[in-house]
Amino acid sequence: MDAKTFDAKTLLDSLFDNGILFETGVDGLYGRSGAFEEVIERFEKLVTRLGAPDKATRIHFPPGMSRATLEKSGYMKSFPQLAGCVHSFMGGEREHASLLNMMATGEDWTELQKATNVALTPAACYPLYPTVAARGPVPAEGVLFELSSYCFRHEPSQDPARMQLFRMREFVKIGTAEQVSAFRESWLTRGKAMIESLQLPCDVDLANDPFFGRGGKMMANNQRDQGLKFELLIPVTSIEKPTACLSFNYHQDHFGQTWGLKFADGELCHSACVGFGLERVALALFRHHGPDIEAWPAGVRAVLWGE
Ligand code: ATP
Ligand code: ZN
Ligand code: MG
Repeated sequence: MDAKTFDAKTLLDSLFDNGILFETGVDGLYGRSGAFEEVIERFEKLVTRLGAPDKATRIHFPPGMSRATLEKSGYMKSFPQLAGCVHSFMGGEREHASLLNMMATGEDWTELQKATNVALTPAACYPLYPTVAARGPVPAEGVLFELSSYCFRHEPSQDPARMQLFRMREFVKIGTAEQVSAFRESWLTRGKAMIESLQLPCDVDLANDPFFGRGGKMMANNQRDQGLKFELLIPVTSIEKPTACLSFNYHQDHFGQTWGLKFADGELCHSACVGFGLERVALALFRHHGPDIEAWPAGVRAVLWGE
């Protein structure tokens, strides 16, 4: 991984060659080495330490969520191209025989599967909102959660920073517009300082989500005009197009309205989330500090390994 070669495929091959990632035959699905996992564990500890004063409630959801929740959240309107829904075989003996037959003859057997109630989680915070709504009115000071989940997005790519299954750690604040914007501001500062303490070059910039279709272009413009999304970018596979490793999102009262998140006086809640792309941060560290974690700069090791 020398400083001159920055393209995605070269980086991916060097990660395979160095035994940091392992191929599975599908772009965007990789095995991770012990060292890679250790970096992620240490980074997660660092994030948790930084967030500790805020006393967030930690919840770890599984990588699959309620399909009904995903439908109601509006995800299919904005990102149908990224969603994944779990399908299973639900037939009897006769359909089973057809299925095996279709497999043997190379036909498309997947049509014999039906959608289950499970969809793959696209972002760690999606399962949270109905969970909070079910607990009743939100207290006046708002609520704060720390989440971690494997996420799925159907965006196969040979860019190692664009995986199909990856982990996201998130802080989510649900409260008034002022509370959630103060939360986001504080993480914009803390997140940047944290990445700089890891001796990684970074910039924070206005961003938009990859909304689907023609209508999506307008949604993306609105999102930018209103300053709803910021990203912390680190050069990983390109200097001109650095990779979004952290994101800072203000949802206004979108999830408040969708899920009926309200204060005791009936006022709708706003929400914001801060997402840490764990694989992307680990990749940035390997990209900038080399394949051998023992040889990383002492200052970086101290931040990650010194408790
Ligand atoms: P991008 O702009 O690169 O597509 P995004 O803006 O869609 O990313 P978010 O929806 O904000 O990403 O997700 C939160 C975080 O999850 C991102 O900041 C990033 O670190 C991480 N992430 C998103 N998509 C992927 C992916 N395909 N592989 C690995 N990490 C990802
Ligand atoms: Zn989120
Ligand atoms: Mg983005």
